[in-house]
Amino acid sequence: MHDDTVTTTDDEEQLVAFVEALNGEYADSLLLIGRILGDRRDATSAAVVGADLAGIDVRLTDPMGDHLVRIDLPEPVGEASQLVYAAMGLLVTARERSGEPGTTSAERVIAEMAGIRTMLTSVVRVVDEHPHLRRITFRGGDLDGFAPLGPDTFLYVLLPPPGRSELTIDRGFSWETVGDMPEADRPVGAYYSVREWRPDTKELDMLFVLHGDEGPASAWAQRAAVGDPVALWGPRTAYAPPPTTTEYVLVVDETGLPAAAAIIESLPPGTPVRVFAEAGPPGERQQLPDRDGVQVTWLDREGAEPGTTSLLEDAVRAAAPPAPTAYVWGGAESRCITAVRRYVRREVGLAREQVSLTGYWRHRDHTDDPYTDEDA
Ligand SMILES: Cc1cc2nc3c(=O)[nH]c(=O)nc-3n(C[C@H](O)[C@H](O)[C@H](O)COP(=O)(O)OP(=O)(O)OC[C@H]3O[C@@H](n4cnc5c(N)ncnc54)[C@H](O)[C@@H]3O)c2cc1C
Repeated sequence: MHDDTVTTTDDEEQLVAFVEALNGEYADSLLLIGRILGDRRDATSAAVVGADLAGIDVRLTDPMGDHLVRIDLPEPVGEASQLVYAAMGLLVTARERSGEPGTTSAERVIAEMAGIRTMLTSVVRVVDEHPHLRRITFRGGDLDGFAPLGPDTFLYVLLPPPGRSELTIDRGFSWETVGDMPEADRPVGAYYSVREWRPDTKELDMLFVLHGDEGPASAWAQRAAVGDPVALWGPRTAYAPPPTTTEYVLVVDETGLPAAAAIIESLPPGTPVRVFAEAGPPGERQQLPDRDGVQVTWLDREGAEPGTTSLLEDAVRAAAPPAPTAYVWGGAESRCITAVRRYVRREVGLAREQVSLTGYWRHRDHTDDPYTDEDA
């Protein structure tokens, strides 16, 4: 972490995560990019002090002092989620130009990402858990070789473009080239968690929140039928509790509940787990496993629109603070989960590796928050 303030209004959460990652876990990769593409080969440290869709502002420190350099992307990206791929491109260029041997942290991730596949499969079952939640089961095709990475394993579900029934991509799908496809052919989709993978039948369940036709993934889930083709890009995981963890605190709305349920099932019975779950009325809640040690606080929105309340932050603040050796994991609307992250990092003082709180979706009104990189 460093003191510089980054302000932007675009894709707040993605930019925060991008800057945090470059200044934190990928600092060695940033230094290579800065030294080579910022033309300060003797620099010994680098910190991103600003980022937008066209490049990053980096403060490089060498024996002569501090230097602020602008490193432009080869071309601006359309949205903050694409910055990661653009930065990978900068890293590859920096490595080539440097002529230096070695591997930085992000280069190791690039190698790992190369292992991510696009699996073609199809729907074999559709079950309504309640009027706003649908369990969709996939089987067959490339899923036969699937293996989850952890209890929060998630995959990007790639779907046919709206109004079409066949996929327009194949196993060779790549995020780098999807922008080159004609717009009418581009797949739509979103990340979804693996609620259950049954290795014996090679069936994979996901729970889709049905939030209307505005979102293409929700619209698809609303109409999903046996035989529908999908592509699944992944798997990925964010859940990584330190081995010293003595208490688990899970903070979720409906989108984080499927992974929270899988996390509870993965822990030995009796493990202290506190769940803070924002949801609709009791008849419209995904059930959580009833296990020894698990204490669930349901937070009823009482008719409020999802993503518009401070229920999660208020409940976490009102409860006993997480133990000094707690692991706090969660997935919910971006602004709601950011408020919780700020509280547990800044006020409770948990270390970065004890906290994995991710914005799983963004309410349409929440696009304009300035942020500081102190949120990490
Ligand atoms: C790692 C990860 C795991 C996830 N796991 C799950 C999961 O298991 N189940 C699940 O249902 N979701 C899950 N999500 C959330 C899901 O990816 C988002 O809700 C996504 O926005 C849905 O895409 P869409 O095409 O339906 O809507 P979008 O096109 O993204 O959004 C369209 C509109 O719908 C609104 N919107 C989006 N999601 C919701 C929602 N849940 N409730 C109300 N309004 C919404 C947006 O604010 C926007 O106004 C996960 C997200 C991540 C990052």
